[in-house]
Amino acid sequence: MKKYLQKILVLLTVVCFCTGCSRRPVKYQKTDTAMGTIVSQTIYMTGDAEAAEEVTAQVRVCIEELEQKYLSWRLESSEIYKINASAGNGQSMELSGLMTEVFDQCNKVYEASGGAFDFSMGSVARLWNIDSAAVHAESFVLPTQQQLTQALDLVGAENSGLDSSQITLPRGIQLDLGAVGKGIALDKVESVLQEHETVNGAVISVGGSVVTYGSKPDGSLWNVGIVDPFDTLRNIGILSLPGGCSVSTSGDYERYVEVDGVRYHHILDPATGRPADSGVKSVTILYSTEQEAKGLLSDALSTACFVLGVEDGLRLAESFGAEALFVDAQGEIYMTDGMSQFFCLSNAVK
Ligand code: ADP
Ligand code: MG
Repeated sequence: MKKYLQKILVLLTVVCFCTGCSRRPVKYQKTDTAMGTIVSQTIYMTGDAEAAEEVTAQVRVCIEELEQKYLSWRLESSEIYKINASAGNGQSMELSGLMTEVFDQCNKVYEASGGAFDFSMGSVARLWNIDSAAVHAESFVLPTQQQLTQALDLVGAENSGLDSSQITLPRGIQLDLGAVGKGIALDKVESVLQEHETVNGAVISVGGSVVTYGSKPDGSLWNVGIVDPFDTLRNIGILSLPGGCSVSTSGDYERYVEVDGVRYHHILDPATGRPADSGVKSVTILYSTEQEAKGLLSDALSTACFVLGVEDGLRLAESFGAEALFVDAQGEIYMTDGMSQFFCLSNAVK
């Protein structure tokens, strides 16, 4: 009998070792900055703190490399910088595989949104310079209507000389992927996580964009808060999501400068060249099912929907199979049916 029990014990130990039940996933958290914003990581994984440190460092490096090699309009090392520097020189440039895919997806949103999302707005965005004015309000100078009209004359992604994997950028046009950078980063981050079998689940945010991955040890859903655009220290509600979701919020509270009671924010309406004024305070886009480039698309759509406003925005999101939630200037909330399955209003707002 004793021998029999011993055998069972040995067998149980082997099973536990193989299934990893002796090493239950542990929660690790890390907050960094990258892409000019806060990167927040919560990861459930087996392994010690050193292993977790390694994973979170790889995630940060992945985001930094994307910015340095491809997306930043400020850094000379990036592909976007080089494309912009080539404007008007008549030479066509061969695009990297990553950038070819990015422009391909961006063009879909550009066309479907009637140009509300437009990655050729760089020269107009530079006139406003909201990014630095949001930090140093004293540096803010309102662009003149003449400056805006002149810059807008050239704007339009269809004028950017893009031809599949080549681009010949005309003089006066500057590309700006600021509206999709965080989403692209999260698409890549998901691949980094997939490379680590020790990672069971994670929720990672880059500014207002979030990805959920895998599951928690207790099987509960991931909670992603939606910021109250009227009081950014609190949430208007929570999305309870399974792994594999992508969420992106665009709001007039992210980067702005206020002059004489007027808020100039960083989401521009390509029709006017001015901060979008569609009666919307924030838009959240969600992909809850598998979708290629879901981070990029949710990011592009949140910007496009902010420019379009509630009615046209809801139509656009639905045409892309995405869920949407709008908070308008009166504080009213509008959402797709699919979004309401995940959304729970905060108590104080009810
Ligand atoms: P955030 O960067 O706060 O997440 P968005 O994703 O909405 O906000 O992107 C805003 C950035 O995108 C701006 O800082 C600017 O660089 C660029 N941008 C502004 N308006 C547009 C637009 N209509 N279409 C595409 N890009 C835009
Ligand atoms: Mg966006």
